[in-house]
Amino acid sequence: MVLKNHYICTGKFTYSFSLKRIGFLFVCFFIYCVSPAQETGIQRPEPIDTLPTGDKFTRIVLYEDFTWKYLDLGKPVFDEDVLFEDWDSSSIHAYKEVPLEDIPDQVTLVLSDSLQGFCCPIMDKVKSGYAFRRVREHRGTDIALSRGDSIRVAFNGVVRVKETTRNTGGYGNLLVVRHPNGLETYYGHLSHFLVDMGEIVKAGEVIGLGGNTGRSTGPHLHFEVRYKGKAFDPERIIDFENGTLRDTLFILKKHYFSIYSHYGQTDEESLAASQRIVHTIKSGDTLGALALKYGTTVRQICSWNGISSTAILRIGRRLIVR
Ligand SMILES: [Zn+2]
Repeated sequence: MVLKNHYICTGKFTYSFSLKRIGFLFVCFFIYCVSPAQETGIQRPEPIDTLPTGDKFTRIVLYEDFTWKYLDLGKPVFDEDVLFEDWDSSSIHAYKEVPLEDIPDQVTLVLSDSLQGFCCPIMDKVKSGYAFRRVREHRGTDIALSRGDSIRVAFNGVVRVKETTRNTGGYGNLLVVRHPNGLETYYGHLSHFLVDMGEIVKAGEVIGLGGNTGRSTGPHLHFEVRYKGKAFDPERIIDFENGTLRDTLFILKKHYFSIYSHYGQTDEESLAASQRIVHTIKSGDTLGALALKYGTTVRQICSWNGISSTAILRIGRRLIVR
């Protein structure tokens, strides 16, 4: 009440400084402080911190003058008809089997543009590439890592599969992410998951930690790239040692789906490799008999398969014979 009858004179205006008016000014100041900062031409005060919201693509930025604003981190948007075709979170490979002859000879894929970025899942040495290994097809690239290293998603997308070793066999803890550019990427042998099934992820987001789960003899990332469920050599699009895309556009050719077609071959070599004939060793087979049967020589079979002419032919082993 002390200020009840106190008057302040400024120019023409005379103002009563009552407690009600002080209260009103305080409320105005409070509203100013808690209101989102307005965009003006005036230089903004320094940001001092950010806070999470319920949406991972939105954060709150706090400024030194106690104002704040929402920061839009750019939630990816997708053409859902394309993205959710043959969607099935309970199968590692969801696309319906399409015969190779029904796939066009080549498809042009946009790997990165102004709307869709790229991030190398992990930058390190390639331990093992896309190839037929002993008795098994290795349809991915193995990249060296230390257990617990961050694994980043290559492109914007939605997590289609999140499965533990119990349900994936050799893949170990596995994430599969569907991307709007028509590809799916596979991340195997993880030690931890950091995203959920159905979650939207942005290129570069950490989706899991590297590990050694599943059929693995040491910590590494098993990384696959598939188009309509069909794998091709990931090194055709990513240079893992430099952490870069080889190009923003990629022309995917049908013969790249062959397990014998890999990065580093010319297209002619890749096409020839995809047309090779592979023989599975049965009881009684010899290199000489195979050479005769397929119209080639023992030396050529040895060269194609990297074996010596005295190699023991284990039953079930597959050999390129033409
Ligand atoms: Zn692998």
